[in-house]
Amino acid sequence: MIVGLTGGIGSGKSTVVRLFGDLDVHWVDADDVAREVVEPGTPALEAIARHFGEDVLLADGSLNRAWLRERVFAEPDERVWLETLLHPIIRKELIRQLHPRDYHLPYVLLVSPLLLETDQRDLVNKILVVDVPESVQIERTMARDNNSRELVESIMAAQMARADRCSQADAIIDNNCPLVEVERQVAELHNRFLLEFS
Ligand code: ADP
Repeated sequence: MIVGLTGGIGSGKSTVVRLFGDLDVHWVDADDVAREVVEPGTPALEAIARHFGEDVLLADGSLNRAWLRERVFAEPDERVWLETLLHPIIRKELIRQLHPRDYHLPYVLLVSPLLLETDQRDLVNKILVVDVPESVQIERTMARDNNSRELVESIMAAQMARADRCSQADAIIDNNCPLVEVERQVAELHNRFLLEFS
């Protein structure tokens, strides 16, 4: 079974998934995978360099994300080209990493901020949402990333609304509480999943 773990920016996805990890649950972060597939030496990065030219690479041969972001922002066709290249590669790699060898638990986790907005949704059997009020999301993200309130609010505006996200959840973790209580919720859910999926 694959459980998808999602939530808005700063809701606590990384925090919660690490707590599951402490219980030996295997997890895959969709953002990490999206970065891994364009690391130096990968076929995807070679294709990107062939298409955009050497400008898309930094001096050390890694991807110049800022340059690429501006380029695809200015040219929608280039965005389509890039997404057409990367989408199947990321999806294949997600599926590969979601099936570890020699794994003894009946479920794994896929962490993704865009789980419900993309076709990553059909990779998972259950949806687990990490939930906090918007005001907490804003405060915690501002503190973590040193970003302005305006920037955090604009990122949130582009994400699914809290109520919509929660209405699609099979389970919700309330992260508007001290970490010990989050740990308790995680342990409870873990036991529930073990029973449900074995
Ligand atoms: P996400 O991965 O969803 O963007 P994070 O797990 O990075 O969110 O959490 C956002 C910030 O809030 C981090 O700095 C994290 O340490 C902090 N945080 C998460 N959960 C709690 C909590 N229950 N109490 C206090 N701070 C928290």
